[in-house]
Amino acid sequence: METTELGGILTDGTGKSTVSGLFAAGEATTGAPSQLILSAAAGSMTAVSINTELMEEDFSF
Ligand SMILES: Cc1cc2nc3c(=O)[nH]c(=O)nc-3n(C[C@H](O)[C@H](O)[C@H](O)COP(=O)(O)OP(=O)(O)OC[C@H]3O[C@@H](n4cnc5c(N)ncnc54)[C@H](O)[C@@H]3O)c2cc1C
Repeated sequence: METTELGGILTDGTGKSTVSGLFAAGEATTGAPSQLILSAAAGSMTAVSINTELMEEDFSF
């Protein structure tokens, strides 16, 4: 798993990490203190990303 310079889990901005099936959001990705609203927003975006990936799995032939 790749990490940021501060030790957070590196993601592509939608919560997807460099490890297949591993998603992260919030301070786990920054490795530094943040704010509640930023973590909540990142969590929401990551949930959409996870849902999209699961949908793609369901509909891939
Ligand atoms: C004293 C203090 C005051 C703050 N005041 C404010 C404020 O007024 N306004 C504001 O916007 N922000 C404030 N913050 C910052 C805010 O709390 C954080 O930015 C926010 O909580 C980060 O949310 P998160 O979900 O990314 O991480 P967290 O809230 O830290 O959630 C991570 C969760 O993962 C759990 N966890 C960790 N390791 C594991 C593991 N191995 N397995 C399972 N679970 C695990 C932890 O127990 C925790 O419940 C404050 C922070 C502190 C410390």
